[in-house]
Amino acid sequence: MEHPENSSEYKGLTVNGGVEQPPLMNPYLGSMRRKRRPVLSADEYVEGILKGNVTILSQAVTLVESLRPEHQEIAQQVIEKCLPYAGNSVRIGISGVPGAGKSTSIDVFGLHVLERSGGKLAVLAIDPSSERSKGSILGDKTRMEKLSVHPDVFVRPSPSAGSLGGVARKTRETIVLCEAAGFDKIFVETVGVGQSETAVHSMVDFFLLIQLAGTGDELQGIKRGIMEMADGIIINKADGNNIEKAKLAANQFRNALHLFPAPESGWTPQVLTYSGFYNIGVKEVWDMVYNYIDFVKNNGYFEYRRNEQSKYWMYETINEHLRDSFYNNPLISSMLEQKEKDVLGGLETSFVAAKNLLETYWNEIRK
Ligand code: GDP
Repeated sequence: MEHPENSSEYKGLTVNGGVEQPPLMNPYLGSMRRKRRPVLSADEYVEGILKGNVTILSQAVTLVESLRPEHQEIAQQVIEKCLPYAGNSVRIGISGVPGAGKSTSIDVFGLHVLERSGGKLAVLAIDPSSERSKGSILGDKTRMEKLSVHPDVFVRPSPSAGSLGGVARKTRETIVLCEAAGFDKIFVETVGVGQSETAVHSMVDFFLLIQLAGTGDELQGIKRGIMEMADGIIINKADGNNIEKAKLAANQFRNALHLFPAPESGWTPQVLTYSGFYNIGVKEVWDMVYNYIDFVKNNGYFEYRRNEQSKYWMYETINEHLRDSFYNNPLISSMLEQKEKDVLGGLETSFVAAKNLLETYWNEIRK
């Protein structure tokens, strides 16, 4: 049946004349709000972070995520001052499609690693969808029931504003702050849908890919690049009737991995089955991760990978700033639409248009 909203006579959606806003019940509310969130000096943030004060850490992360230039300025100072205290952690990337069982697994994994080796855990997220939905679907406190109330765990949802590169950079900067605050285990979660894996891979020591069995053709739809990035592939929900299917899937993944060139680390990626929900095989998953960390710390790859990542982020940051500077230039942004039309209308080739815009840009910034 046609929905009544589509009828021209439907009045339910017409806008009525507005009513006047009621006066503020508490005229001091504004100043009270400001009081609750004091903007500290960079040194005060750093002091709080180094003491492991989670409230101050949280506020500092909010500054890192803020788009306001004055926040960014303090944030960058805080990050710089925290840098000498950062780095002393193991960073694990955890990726999987929605429904693969990331939050269930992370809840169990987190408790496992804390029981196994103590310390403090930060769970961060990179969520490429948050730009559109303006809200994060990952790292949500309600999704990790046990970890979100654990005294030694800091759960932070994905930063929501900006490009994937920008969101990822903020997560990387948040890692620095968490490490300075004494978090020696960092989980970075992402939805396994494409580019965000590259971003996560570029900031972690071990990349764990959660997969599911059951479709019969397990490798379908999994991008080769993502599999190549994985240091370990774990097939979740290996419980009940699903155990055999999970084992079969694991074999398929093992066979597929043989086709890839040997990874630089010298480590052969492993494929395991487990059940996050029933806590089966979780210890074996973490035996694998701990073995890997020992292995790459011994052969020097651990340091090497972190250095490569620092380099990667230097270039990423340069690229990001150059791109922003170009597209935010008023003259350029006023020309873009027309140039696009010229290219589409065949009046100019893409290359000529691009060259022309770039020349305009260079002239602008030389002024
Ligand atoms: P996410 O979207 O990747 O974070 O996935 P969730 O952790 O929210 O899990 C999706 C669904 O799979 C939920 O209904 C979970 O209860 C279920 N699930 C997660 N892990 C397991 C598991 O090990 N075994 C089974 N049978 N179900 C699981």
